[in-house]
Amino acid sequence: MKKTVSVVIPAFNEAENLIVIIDRLEGIFKNTAYEAEFIIIDDGSTDHTLTILKTMASINTKLFYIEFSRNFGHQLALKAGLDQAKGDCVISLDADLQHPPELIIQMLEKWEEGNDVVYTRRSEDKSLPYGKRKSSSLFYKLINVLSSIQIEEGTADFRLMDKKVIDVFRNFEENEPFIRGLVQWMGYKQIAIDYIPHKRHAGTSKYNLRKMMRFALQGVTSFSIKPLYTAVYLGFAFSMLSVLYIPYVFYSVYMGIEVDGWASTIMTIVFFGGLQLIIMGIIGIYIGKMFMQTKNRPNYIIKSTNFVPATTNTNYD
Ligand code: UDP
Ligand code: MG
Repeated sequence: MKKTVSVVIPAFNEAENLIVIIDRLEGIFKNTAYEAEFIIIDDGSTDHTLTILKTMASINTKLFYIEFSRNFGHQLALKAGLDQAKGDCVISLDADLQHPPELIIQMLEKWEEGNDVVYTRRSEDKSLPYGKRKSSSLFYKLINVLSSIQIEEGTADFRLMDKKVIDVFRNFEENEPFIRGLVQWMGYKQIAIDYIPHKRHAGTSKYNLRKMMRFALQGVTSFSIKPLYTAVYLGFAFSMLSVLYIPYVFYSVYMGIEVDGWASTIMTIVFFGGLQLIIMGIIGIYIGKMFMQTKNRPNYIIKSTNFVPATTNTNYD
């Protein structure tokens, strides 16, 4: 019997890319010994993504779509696809063709060699704007310094996972899953492939600097409480400094040295005010995460789909 491969593609306003990517993928799988199914998640698109998906699904029995009730974000769209995938392995990639589908052949080879996770590493793309490259690099550095997992630079959600990994992953009930971190955290036999990213085929990027920052913070706070320790250490460091400073203040008063206090007072207030806000913010993020998690809401809501869902924790047509 042929082995099956599920290909999961999150799509948010990707109308112009879908036909092209499915065409490319079908071309690839035609020459392999695998049976492929394609799962595309319409993450609350406002363009014709859904109409195109429905039309494609009506003529392609291997194509499944999931319509979200609204935009839940890339990570949850991906999760929904992984939740429903039935293949012996699952490959996830972006809809915009930045992840070259041709790499799938190599990924499958590595999988056949006994690797459970084949992830990809993007070589630095000189054609990307400087700001995007730097923010992306900063993103990985921040996560690696501040959390207990190590994610290699340039690993996006373009990877192959064996069924056994997916089966474990499905049981995760994290409210804001940071998938590339979770996969790394899970272990198993993992191997990387390097590739040169392509240009987005059509449309525009959905990640801006603000979203990247949010994503990075989410990544860090999902994996460690190091930032909380950092806050405590900072507190200690400044307390020590003030302990050294107090005798100096007494000495000055005792000796009757005139002290120009204004500038130093303002600076201290501003500096410590900022620091305290940051630290409170960090604590707040963790409390917020607990709050979101305790509500136990479903991660995402499926409005309609053309296949019988594997899980039942959400609403369906
Ligand atoms: N995406 C999504 N929901 C979102 C944002 C993005 O499903 O809210 C999808 C998008 O359609 C694409 C993938 O996630 O398939 C990566 O997004 P994008 O290409 O915009 O990110 P970039 O490559 O610029 O980092
Ligand atoms: Mg992209």
